[in-house]
Amino acid sequence: MNNSEKTMDKIVALCKNRGFIFAGSEIYGGLANTWDYGPLGTRLKNNVKDAWRKRFIQERHNSFEVDADILMNPRVWEASGHVGSFSDPLLDCKECKMRFRADNLIDEFDPEAHADGMSKEEMFDYIKAHSIPCPNCGKHNFTDIREFNLMFQTYRGVTNDAKSVIYLRPENAQGEYVNYPNVLRSMRAKLPFSIGQIGKAFRNEITPGNFTFRTIEFEQMEFQTFCKPGDDLELYEYFKNYGRQFYEDLGLPAENLRFHDHEKLAHYAKAACDIEFLFPTIGWGEINGTHDRTDFDLSRHQEYSGQKMDYLDPYTNERYIPYIVESTYGLDRTVLALLCQAYDEEVVDAEKNDVRVVLHLKPSIAPIKASILPLSKKLGDKAMELRDELAKHFMVDYDDTGSIGKRYRRADEIGTPYCVTVDFDTVGDPEKGIEPDNAVTIRDRDTMEQVRVPISELRAWLTEHVGA
Ligand SMILES: [Zn+2]
Repeated sequence: MNNSEKTMDKIVALCKNRGFIFAGSEIYGGLANTWDYGPLGTRLKNNVKDAWRKRFIQERHNSFEVDADILMNPRVWEASGHVGSFSDPLLDCKECKMRFRADNLIDEFDPEAHADGMSKEEMFDYIKAHSIPCPNCGKHNFTDIREFNLMFQTYRGVTNDAKSVIYLRPENAQGEYVNYPNVLRSMRAKLPFSIGQIGKAFRNEITPGNFTFRTIEFEQMEFQTFCKPGDDLELYEYFKNYGRQFYEDLGLPAENLRFHDHEKLAHYAKAACDIEFLFPTIGWGEINGTHDRTDFDLSRHQEYSGQKMDYLDPYTNERYIPYIVESTYGLDRTVLALLCQAYDEEVVDAEKNDVRVVLHLKPSIAPIKASILPLSKKLGDKAMELRDELAKHFMVDYDDTGSIGKRYRRADEIGTPYCVTVDFDTVGDPEKGIEPDNAVTIRDRDTMEQVRVPISELRAWLTEHVGA
């Protein structure tokens, strides 16, 4: 199936029914744009994190991981510019009380209008001049546009005054930037070096979500490379391609990935590019952003904190503030892209109208590597013994309910690459004079072909086929 033939509704239904992703707080009717990862979704997400960590931290020179607190000194967000300007232009419909982003209203009314280049006043005038109707009730009766800061704000301690306001971080990056001098010193780092971090961030957005594509709480895998000014553009190009290769190696094919270079740049950026993936229903959507942030961040932190953020070049004896090339990977969006890409419906037998749903996840990121199936419940002891042994090395499960065919289909639907069947030949039958062959049948999810493998070689076989 092409991604354009798939629908997000089917992906959402599979995620809910098979334990990947549930609506947040579901028994209370949910909470808009929040989602909980179920047992299989959590494993998939962790496997993606492990793959990222291996590629970005373990395999690279001079690459360090940190785990900074979500709560930071509020001065950080003044220095970063988030307190002053990280906001959406919002207005309310006076008739039905629904809230909208002014730029979205205009873009949906006329995609050629380019609301992103308009001031608040220009947007208001445009909406009025064209009598843009409320998308919910169809009337035209809006409030003024107000700037609504996207940071989640809370209060520290017992007093509820402005001085105790703190924020849930709206991005991870500042946790890496403020730790630049600590990593530089403690790890005796030399430029260029990188600080990576996997962690949650929060944005109080009202835009409807498209499942886990846009959520108010989300997880990012971030990679910040500190370099000598002048080396930045080469590194920027390098990390764009490095990111794209990472996605292809995870299983997203080249034809469903593209670069989107930004023409309009954020105030801190010298160059910016997204990697986009072709999602079903949603269309092309950003899953990674790479930015050349120059010395903006460290200069601002030097100014606001009063601490020196410069670097003494040991080769030239020059002092300068390093440039930063940032590459950010949306973890939730990456997981969603992998699920969308993997989803497939295959006609097994057209005459019988037999269609199987299968997730063609790469074995290395599949939540479960092998499902152990006793052909008969009488073979349960042997199969369970095998499960327990394999579970020391792989994430495996055990299924003895229903026909073998039904069990294969259940495994296909959650992307388990191998089914291992224990049958009567495995254990033999002394009464009938059948010797045990001490072997099992392995069935491949994608080709549905089967091979007989001795139990003594099973662990090595799976290691080879599942990958590290
Ligand atoms: Zn309305």
